Amino acid sequence: MYDIVVIGGGPAGITLAKRLGDKYKMAVIRPEDHSLIYCAMPYIIEDLIDEKKCFKKDELVTDSGAESLRGNVNSVDFDKKEVTINNDTAVTYRKLVIATGAAPFIPPIEGSKLDVVMGFKTQANLEKIQHLVNNGLKRAVVVDAGAIGIELAQALSVQ
Ligand SMILES: Cc1cc2nc3c(=O)[nH]c(=O)nc-3n(C[C@H](O)[C@H](O)[C@H](O)COP(=O)(O)OP(=O)(O)OC[C@H]3O[C@@H](n4cnc5c(N)ncnc54)[C@H](O)[C@@H]3O)c2cc1C
Repeated sequence: MYDIVVIGGGPAGITLAKRLGDKYKMAVIRPEDHSLIYCAMPYIIEDLIDEKKCFKKDELVTDSGAESLRGNVNSVDFDKKEVTINNDTAVTYRKLVIATGAAPFIPPIEGSKLDVVMGFKTQANLEKIQHLVNNGLKRAVVVDAGAIGIELAQALSVQ
């Protein structure tokens, strides 16, 4: 039984672990091998830094005493106070924090399910764009004029 279980190992989960991991028995659950430094992703596309530089170390969570559990939470039983990881491991909690972040919204327009249409959030997204760039990508469309889209467009434009 954990005092606190956090679903999600992004900045929110990591910050909670840093602040509370030495005070409570705590677990942070995430599916990825690495939590990413997202703001570095455009620089990787631009080939300014190596991909590994944007992998956060697990110690950011575990140095405080919190545990880092790897897997996807499939269900939560709020009556039993239990989460299930990868359909097979049950973990019980006193307090649960759901810090699962957000995923890019891809509008359901024609062509949006094509292989080369993707968000820019995950390691898989990053590596796919890197692969396209390394294999002679000439033209790309970035649908997003916010900070992330502009940084990605800038990184792609210097290729
Ligand atoms: C390319 C890019 C650049 C950015 N640059 C900046 C910047 O320069 N400055 C800035 O302030 N912000 C930036 N951001 C935004 C910032 O990264 C987000 O605001 C931040 O990551 C949100 O943190 P979070 O922990 O709430 O969610 P997330 O980082 O989305 O983390 C959610 C976590 O929950 C996990 N999760 C989801 N579902 C489950 C499940 N069922 N079971 C287990 N785990 C689950 C995910 O796998 C992930 O580990 C950038 C984002 C991107 C994508």
